[in-house]
Amino acid sequence: MKVLTFHAPGDVRIEDAPEPAPGPADVKIRVKACSTCGTDVKIYNHGHHHIVPPRVMGHEIAGEVVEVGADVTGWAPGDRVQVIAAIPCGRCGECRRGHMTVCSNQVSMGYHFDGGFAEYMVVPHNVLDVDGLNRIPDGVSYAEASVAEPLACVLNGQNLARVGDGDDVVVVGSGPIGCLHVRLARARGAARVFLVDLNRERLDLAADLVRPDAAICGAETDVVDAVMKLTEGRGADVVITAAASGAAQEQALQMTARQGRISFFGGLPKDKPVVSVDSNVVHYRELTIVGANGSSPAHNKEALRLIASGAVPVADLITHRLPLADALDAFGIVARGEAIKVTIEP
Ligand SMILES: [Zn+2]
Ligand SMILES: [Zn+2]
Repeated sequence: MKVLTFHAPGDVRIEDAPEPAPGPADVKIRVKACSTCGTDVKIYNHGHHHIVPPRVMGHEIAGEVVEVGADVTGWAPGDRVQVIAAIPCGRCGECRRGHMTVCSNQVSMGYHFDGGFAEYMVVPHNVLDVDGLNRIPDGVSYAEASVAEPLACVLNGQNLARVGDGDDVVVVGSGPIGCLHVRLARARGAARVFLVDLNRERLDLAADLVRPDAAICGAETDVVDAVMKLTEGRGADVVITAAASGAAQEQALQMTARQGRISFFGGLPKDKPVVSVDSNVVHYRELTIVGANGSSPAHNKEALRLIASGAVPVADLITHRLPLADALDAFGIVARGEAIKVTIEP
């Protein structure tokens, strides 16, 4: 079968590999859709400390069950499934408290296990052990189901930032994650959603699809000023930074309303993780700053429900569909910001 394998930073190859065989507690799937994201581009360029090469990449996975290990119950060939990306251990102190996104023993598809840029993939028992193999609801395509994983991460972020009814929400970063944040915030009853990006083309592409109440280009306008004007001087109830930008995080502090919440959704580059925060602004304005680290199996299930019900449509966010042979082109398209979501259909 054909796979996309990471060998070293800058050395990612489409190559032939033997079809994997499931262990007695594993499930084997025919991958039908695996979406790409910025993380794939990062791995391509810089590798990742959790990846020991060679490793098949791809972590936004949907497919059809083709073989079930002897000890597996509840699954059969033909089942349509979505696979979690981050796999919690289910046993540590965090997992037992239900904090599965911050499991200290977390492992991941495409990092510790071969991922979905392949014709076939084994879903390891670790996924099944934590109820991380999800049935795709009727009416949801494989491509849409592959977007459940990033949507699950967005859902975790908005739960932590308590996005809800009547909120004015600013989303900084108009990539696929930013688009999902806009859509989910609307589904959760946000009053107004404003989308911010430095790149005018990317902002326009996203705004055409997700129709924010205002699209603010940071290269042309003072973002803080614009948000304060749009919110009658209050600031936004929630600011979500879906960009790897310390400057955006610092700006977030300046445009958040009293008792507002700030989600540092996107991480910062490893060598530049420090930002300055006026602690008195946090103190007197009663601000909450939260992080976000992936998603739990439950978030993935909820994301599939949100897609199935139409609350968060994702089909139109998939702007490109490519065969596995063109997966390297997909990384270029993602890196250049020409697409919202690029889905590989192996
Ligand atoms: Zn991803
Ligand atoms: Zn754990």
